[in-house]
Amino acid sequence: MSTDTRLNIGIVGAGISGLAAAIALRRAGHTVTVFEQSSEFRESGFAVSISPNGTRVLDLFGFDYRRAKALDCKKIEVSSGVDLCKSVEIALDDHRKRLAFRIEGGTAATRAELGRKVLNVDIESATLTLEDGSSFTYDLIVGADGRNDTLLTEDRSGELQDIEASYLSCDQLGRPKDYGSAFLAEALKKEYEKFHPLLRRTLSKANEVSDWSVTSTSSPTCWTKGKVVLIGDAVHSMFPTTGQGACQCLEDAVALGILLSNLPSRDHIYARLRSFEEMRRQRVVPVHALSGVLLGQERERDRKVARAVLGKDFSTPEENLVYTNGYNVILEARNYLERFLGTGKGKEWCSLL
Ligand SMILES: Cc1cc2nc3c(=O)[nH]c(=O)nc-3n(C[C@H](O)[C@H](O)[C@H](O)COP(=O)(O)OP(=O)(O)OC[C@H]3O[C@@H](n4cnc5c(N)ncnc54)[C@H](O)[C@@H]3O)c2cc1C
Repeated sequence: MSTDTRLNIGIVGAGISGLAAAIALRRAGHTVTVFEQSSEFRESGFAVSISPNGTRVLDLFGFDYRRAKALDCKKIEVSSGVDLCKSVEIALDDHRKRLAFRIEGGTAATRAELGRKVLNVDIESATLTLEDGSSFTYDLIVGADGRNDTLLTEDRSGELQDIEASYLSCDQLGRPKDYGSAFLAEALKKEYEKFHPLLRRTLSKANEVSDWSVTSTSSPTCWTKGKVVLIGDAVHSMFPTTGQGACQCLEDAVALGILLSNLPSRDHIYARLRSFEEMRRQRVVPVHALSGVLLGQERERDRKVARAVLGKDFSTPEENLVYTNGYNVILEARNYLERFLGTGKGKEWCSLL
């Protein structure tokens, strides 16, 4: 596929957002190099669910669900952990949802440099400096380095069952310096001792227990500066309650690819990036604000949030789900692209990406 102006783009980070951006930008005709600090593929330890706003992007990329051993999610249930009383049940028969995501080391057409930690980025000249002192200058740098602490995941032949349990603070567990799986299993038992026996029995079956700190950035404000654009957790890390972190990474990536399509010249990069920022801010700020809201608790806990960011309340959990999952990033990015190319002209680029 050709573009009027081919950019030379460096991406920092080969997580979901970095790799997805590499595919989208490559398909938009640009030359892409991905720098990843990790030199090996190591398991991250948790599965992610990808809702339809994310699978729409994976479909466009021709993602191989079978090879990734992805599973369809049949329904969403929210129950009390104490008496298992169900408060929300939503069947997803007509609602495409995929579970478990495998990251690979890059596409054949994209150069991926593993074991290459980026130490410094000059945002005006778009120059990356690596740990070994070497430096590279690009037309644009995409910052997809997450919270700087994640490693790439490894497939486990679909036999991994992922159970996620949260607690307020690790320090409350009084964890020793070199704590491991056995310590965490004990801590989990204690933390959940008031919960339903069925739930406790399930938790006790875990062969391996590991933990992550979960943080949420403040509401995302600055996405682009100089010749750098941020995507994924680097700009909007959010609570995993609504399962939207990775989905937003996919939306960012494809929006960036579409908005950097068909560039008449390098002078147009900044206007396109400003458009990307405007489009993504409108979408991500509400999703980010709602990311800690449990389905069914919209009215009680996050009325104010929904009203502040969306100007309305969600009256049902389904409404919340439709808002979050029903978004079509491809269509939206096309509308933005057509501001530059003219009505009807963005269609071709979006379908090819
Ligand atoms: C427990 C848990 C459950 C979750 N469940 C879901 C879910 O169900 N659905 C969902 O959509 N999302 C979920 N998420 C969120 C999702 O996992 C993240 O939003 C997503 O993986 C972030 O991807 P990323 O590429 O932006 O960042 P990361 O995955 O953090 O990737 C950043 C990459 O950059 C590399 N890097 C960092 N610094 C440098 C450097 N200086 N030089 C070179 N490389 C560097 C890192 O090694 C890493 O590989 C969950 C998160 C957690 C913690």
